[in-house]
Amino acid sequence: MSMALKSPLTALAGVGPALAGKLERLGLYRVEDLLFLMPLRYEDRTRLVPIGALVAGHRCLVNGEVLLAETVYRGRRSLLVRIGDGSGQLTLRFFHFSRAQQAQFQTGTRLSCFGEVRRGPAGPEMIHPEYRLLGENRKPAVNESLTPIYPATDGVQQGRLRNLTEQALGVMHRSGPRELLPDSVRQRFDFPSLADAIAYLHRPPPDADPAEILAGRHPCRQRLAFEELLAHYLSLRNLRALADSQRAPLLDGGTEETAAFVAGLPFELTGAQRRVVEEIVADLGRGHPMMRLIQGDVGSGKTVVAAIACLKAIACGVQAALMAPTELLAEQHFSSFADWFGPFGIEPVRLAGNQRAAARREALAAIADGSARLAVGTHALFQEGVTFRELGLVVIDEQHRFGVHQRMALRDKGGKDGGDGHPHQLVMTATPIPRTLAMAAYADLDTSIIDELPPGRRPVTTIAIPDTRRDEVIERVRDACAAGRQAYWVCPLIEESEQLDFEAAEASFDLLTRALPELRVGLVHGRMKPREKERGMSAFKEGLVQVLVATTVVEVGVDVPNASLMIVENAERMGLSQLHQLRGRVGRDARQSHCVLLYKPPLGAAAKRRLGVLRDSNDGFVVAQQDLELRGPGELLGTRQTGLPEYRLADLVRDAGLMPGVQMAAETIRREAPELAKPIVARWLGDANRYGKV
Ligand code: ADP
Ligand code: MG
Repeated sequence: MSMALKSPLTALAGVGPALAGKLERLGLYRVEDLLFLMPLRYEDRTRLVPIGALVAGHRCLVNGEVLLAETVYRGRRSLLVRIGDGSGQLTLRFFHFSRAQQAQFQTGTRLSCFGEVRRGPAGPEMIHPEYRLLGENRKPAVNESLTPIYPATDGVQQGRLRNLTEQALGVMHRSGPRELLPDSVRQRFDFPSLADAIAYLHRPPPDADPAEILAGRHPCRQRLAFEELLAHYLSLRNLRALADSQRAPLLDGGTEETAAFVAGLPFELTGAQRRVVEEIVADLGRGHPMMRLIQGDVGSGKTVVAAIACLKAIACGVQAALMAPTELLAEQHFSSFADWFGPFGIEPVRLAGNQRAAARREALAAIADGSARLAVGTHALFQEGVTFRELGLVVIDEQHRFGVHQRMALRDKGGKDGGDGHPHQLVMTATPIPRTLAMAAYADLDTSIIDELPPGRRPVTTIAIPDTRRDEVIERVRDACAAGRQAYWVCPLIEESEQLDFEAAEASFDLLTRALPELRVGLVHGRMKPREKERGMSAFKEGLVQVLVATTVVEVGVDVPNASLMIVENAERMGLSQLHQLRGRVGRDARQSHCVLLYKPPLGAAAKRRLGVLRDSNDGFVVAQQDLELRGPGELLGTRQTGLPEYRLADLVRDAGLMPGVQMAAETIRREAPELAKPIVARWLGDANRYGKV
């Protein structure tokens, strides 16, 4: 039988269907996959440690001779085996043992043990060490390389994983793997060959520094991370190249309508908004799908830019769709767009998840027959059964709440029977993403940045106050409302329990209703029916209610410019980006706004740092950078919620520094060796490309 890296795992000795099934849970299907299974850590069994030199807490390899073995009953039955090597004595303690095992430990038998050293009542101990008997030949039982410890899965022991990786390494040494990085790239970054890197990481030599490897600083590790990042990058670039080769409706009209719309706004567009509009206009006139990301901090005015794009598309004769991550935000967009587009005879339709059947049917029919020119909704928009007659533009608000594949799904709604190819895509996010991260995550998109707030905005002042001083905060609410402004009082979403979430909001609502009898207090929480939520929200928007007690449903996008005070309860539990989003609900006109972060003392170190960042900065970029450092990219890019597959060994934060090189390498491959792109993507992302077809 000839075994190759592409063979199924069952080709390896000792792997039957049952084990293969368990290995699948580690994402391992083929022999090659084992090579990319990275150890979580390493153990040093390359050196024998003299018993006299053992240090509690370390995991060490020890050889010694059995001096004494006895079964004791102190609380529970245990077997104690005392061994010695001339430098000291060590006790091995077993709670589970067989008669046969017990019989092994004859006085004078030589053992090799590996385990964690603990301080015991009579000197150093190891509890349930790995051990084996040493034969007469007295060969020192040391390994030649550091011992890899792999991510475990149910019922697959480390010894087994070591054996399998050993077999896979053997296959690799005989045949492959194919080196896919061009020589020029490897030389530029001084990378080892793929085979050398893999061999090193699975079986590091005794002098290797495990800390260096695990921190991602070792060239072998970087070599692999580089190739993985490159695979993702190439895959997204392929997607982009595909889009560039596809047709999209040429939208170069609508100039009068958009000019009239802009002229009718109660404000002037900022320079940044105008610039981004121009970029969009240029994209729409190319005849290929626009794929553009707008980054703009909370309150920078992204919605109106999206509206201009939609109006232009509609005026050019295609349908537009606007997708928002929450029902509340979809509803708000629906009513703003209805107001804005009314004068142009355009009536948006709404598509929500929990709409009445009749309303939904009607909306679907209007979308399908083309009488609805603009559809506004949540992810309900790209579910099955939604068919557009001629979808030409898709706008996705707060895109970080969605994943890449959802973006793709809506894109596929276009062109089905429209005949004019794929729709244009405009995605918007308030989470500014550090450049290197954006390079990796949004390599298929062009980026526009609204880096200017509307004129006259004042930074929101932010303070953190222990919730023991809640009464003072209530007085601030009273004062703000007496001055004609409005306030949000946000209770945290308690992830484990919607029930508690709702109770916390109810309790605050009761408290504020009693404490502020002269004010109207409203309540909006996640368990309300959409209609109730909307009613609560619009009462606040219209100023009928002065204080809105809400759960974090108001987090994204909600726009009530008269609100000037944001109180956040249990702020210590929330992430930075989330708090920044909440704070972004105020400070939406030229008057001064405030944000009060209430916390339950005592404040932990991490929470203290988070609240400090918000107090010191109003800049979403700074906040996002800190958030990235504190929580990792999953939260920032929204991959966690959407289940976008994670990287196998690259880490977008740790390896961010590799991205410029990755981009260069992709360019080299495009110019000099385009045939390499496909196998690189296939190696890391599987043959079924997770971002779409290559
Ligand atoms: P975000 O970028 O967070 O989505 P919005 O689009 O909700 O921000 O805009 C925030 C507020 O600023 C809205 O009330 C909007 O009408 C207003 N706005 C947008 N552009 C301008 C501008 N150029 N001048 C003044 N106000 C503006
Ligand atoms: Mg918005």
